[in-house]
Amino acid sequence: MNLQQIVDDTWNTLADQRGCGTLATYIPALAEVDPNKFAIALATPDGAVHCAGDADEPFSIQSISKVFVLAQALERQGPALWDAVGREPSGDPFNSIVQLEREKGIPRNPFINSGAIVTTDRFIDDRGPEDAVTDLLQRLRRMARDDAVTIDERVARSESDAGARNRSLAFFIADFGRLLNPVEEVLSVYFRQCAFAMSCRQLAETSLFLASDGTDPVSGQVMCDPIRARRINALMLLCGHYDNSGQFAFEVGFPGKSGVGGGILASIPGKAAIAVWSPGLNRSGTSMLGAMALGRIARQTGWSVFSGESMRH
Ligand code: GLN
Repeated sequence: MNLQQIVDDTWNTLADQRGCGTLATYIPALAEVDPNKFAIALATPDGAVHCAGDADEPFSIQSISKVFVLAQALERQGPALWDAVGREPSGDPFNSIVQLEREKGIPRNPFINSGAIVTTDRFIDDRGPEDAVTDLLQRLRRMARDDAVTIDERVARSESDAGARNRSLAFFIADFGRLLNPVEEVLSVYFRQCAFAMSCRQLAETSLFLASDGTDPVSGQVMCDPIRARRINALMLLCGHYDNSGQFAFEVGFPGKSGVGGGILASIPGKAAIAVWSPGLNRSGTSMLGAMALGRIARQTGWSVFSGESMRH
């Protein structure tokens, strides 16, 4: 199978639909991004990365960061993390507050904002926010094999300035006594993890651990335990696109995680990690063109976590 050709064909076929969808204007800095950007990077465990379009241009990874923080929070807290956050799809928008009151401050899953606020809190643990951010930055640089991975402080400030909703979620959880750290410290890490600027190439390389039982197959670096990688994939499939997760599983069939910067990360266990980027979003905050690109790659490769044939080695 010629993966470079599939990536190129997918980019070329969809390129005339660049600009579709709507930018995430609720974070003012994200509204300034060029809507015509379009990138694909597909990394395989042998170290190859097949790219097309703006694959070396950094963008705001936003909620894709929730996958990395979950992996690290789990490594720090072990199964006790699940006392503080659930593992069920929410069926609600990413920034919804409705379930929190009925469910006593325990968010449905780690990928909605409320859940990620909790995993961020547990990832900080007792170290303080600055050490936690530095730890995440160094880890992502190592995984991407690229010290250019950085935090876009302007995006982080922009989100913090417009952060009433996330503050509401965090204070609501704190009111149930469910945060270990002060709300503003947790949010200062949350806003910065969302503001990581990474290219599709860096993101695909960083995420290979999800397709390879928790260990980066190229560097040998362990990101998480094998069973945890499997479980993170399960959660990505069920919750990675909020109230659009069913549609994404139906159309694409890969565990995936969207971000309102227009990136989507997908993992195909045993096969590849794929990152796509196109800033225009559908109503659930999933990149419109990005989801189309992943659907096309799924059809062209025959890969799907639901197909026995394609998953055979
Ligand atoms: N930083 C964004 C927020 O908290 C992340 C949302 C997303 O990417 N879905 O609203």
